[in-house]
Amino acid sequence: LVRLRSRLSRSQNALGKGLLTLLSREHLDEDTWEEVEDTLLTADVGVAPTQELVERLRTRVKVLGTRSPADLRQLLREELLTLVRTDLDRTLHTDGLPNADGADQPAVLMVVGVNGTGKTTTTGKLARVLVADGRSVVLGAADTFRAAAADQLQTWGERVGARTVRGPEGGDPASVAFDAVKEGIAEGADVVLIDTAGRLHTKTGLMDELGKVKRVVEKHGPVDEVLLVLDATTGQNGLVQARVFAEVVDITGIVLTKLDGTAKGGIVVAVQRELGVPVKLIGLGEGADDLAPFEPEAFVDALIG
Ligand code: GDP
Repeated sequence: LVRLRSRLSRSQNALGKGLLTLLSREHLDEDTWEEVEDTLLTADVGVAPTQELVERLRTRVKVLGTRSPADLRQLLREELLTLVRTDLDRTLHTDGLPNADGADQPAVLMVVGVNGTGKTTTTGKLARVLVADGRSVVLGAADTFRAAAADQLQTWGERVGARTVRGPEGGDPASVAFDAVKEGIAEGADVVLIDTAGRLHTKTGLMDELGKVKRVVEKHGPVDEVLLVLDATTGQNGLVQARVFAEVVDITGIVLTKLDGTAKGGIVVAVQRELGVPVKLIGLGEGADDLAPFEPEAFVDALIG
């Protein structure tokens, strides 16, 4: 939690401390409530959730009567948690189900998103977490368009102890993904992680390609997770990207990266609401250990400080 706090310090200052300071004012006039609203919008909480929260805070602060810092903190904690929590299942499915013949099948996870959001890094970090948990992992370098992506993934693989399956540069991503799963099955691996390409400028191209990767992989068996990687620093832009991806493939979870570099931690709320998909993992830095499961309580505690 200490680490989460330090990594989220920018959001903590802007959101948690900002709101507490405002609510602690002696007179909560209209201007103050507007500032509360601005604070939430600036943190990318999103318009509808912001309005809901401001309404609830107004009512509850009035009912509360006192303005003691401890009471305000508790109230804010509860209300932020209400926004961040969802009924959506946050479990990351990494146990493969037996195939039609009853043979063990590795869990297959596809990692999708726009280039630069942190897909390859996330795939590497996730491999590390899984390997540390005693799982054998095969990596599929299906981002065959970005020249360095396969090298980057392979470096991660060597670092964490996972074999990387790659194809020729510019080769067919679906065939690399297919081969990676085949390799995973042959090796009796527990998990296959597939890094994909994300050139968003040609939506039909992306649609064809990602759809094809998934269909081809499914010849081996079901895809357990399609994780969409979103860069938290891109704010509402990330939401636009997310909608495009959600049209192309069924997203089962969001990975929100670069939360360490932004004051816009409220994007967690907006993303879950907007897509109806849970944030499952968060990226808190460039290092190998900087991937954490998303836990609403810990997240809100870190925000409030
Ligand atoms: P890709 O094109 O989506 O595969 O993106 P990369 O994995 O190559 O990442 C792009 C850049 O973002 C790299 O410099 C990463 O080190 C950096 N990055 C990825 N995740 C995080 C994160 O959680 N925090 C920070 N600060 N940087 C990150």
